[in-house]
Amino acid sequence: MHTNILIVEDDMAIREMMAFSLKREGFDAIKAASGHEALEQLNQVHPDLIVVDWGLPDMSGIDLIDSIRRDEVIKEVPIIMLTARSEEQDKIKGLERGADDYLTKPASMLELMARIRAHLRRSKGFETSHKLTYQDIEMDASAHEVKVNELAVNLSLTEFKLLKLFLQNPNKLLAREHILNHVWGRNTFVEDRTVDVHILRLRKALKPHARDKWIQTVRGIGYKLASM
Ligand code: CA
Repeated sequence: MHTNILIVEDDMAIREMMAFSLKREGFDAIKAASGHEALEQLNQVHPDLIVVDWGLPDMSGIDLIDSIRRDEVIKEVPIIMLTARSEEQDKIKGLERGADDYLTKPASMLELMARIRAHLRRSKGFETSHKLTYQDIEMDASAHEVKVNELAVNLSLTEFKLLKLFLQNPNKLLAREHILNHVWGRNTFVEDRTVDVHILRLRKALKPHARDKWIQTVRGIGYKLASM
């Protein structure tokens, strides 16, 4: 299985050096040169670990970590931040706000790789807690797998995030705005309509398993997961 590491770093030389070291270790490196690029990548992929440079051109590392920690699907991903010497004060703030670890730049690639491996070992140990179930719907969030009655359901990442939110809140009415904030994050501009479109896609994916009607519309407010 592939291990994806997202690197968020605006300095191209450092970014390429990290990507090179990661690939040599057998990891898949995903690169982002800004906070917004990182958020866009996170709509497509579910990384196993994220390395965040503190000084980004468009937002601070803190803001990026905040949006990651608010996202229901990826909020538990280990985050290592990189701080330049002049940003030493920020690392305390960063740890308080949700980073798991930090390294001061210039960082040794050997040390960075060792820390990445250590965090991955720890997070993989918690994988069992990534399993969610509701009746015969089963989700393994870390393996990105969904099954209904033992049969695999194919979902895109957004539909996967949506279903995860429902499985975390069964039989509970979820307002559109709540869904938007948790699935898309507050920093992305999306319309309420987008939620409806993806609900339709989720139902379509669940239809062959006769579970589409379990995603119920609560008119004018939102949706809920409930068996019929
Ligand atoms: Ca920087």
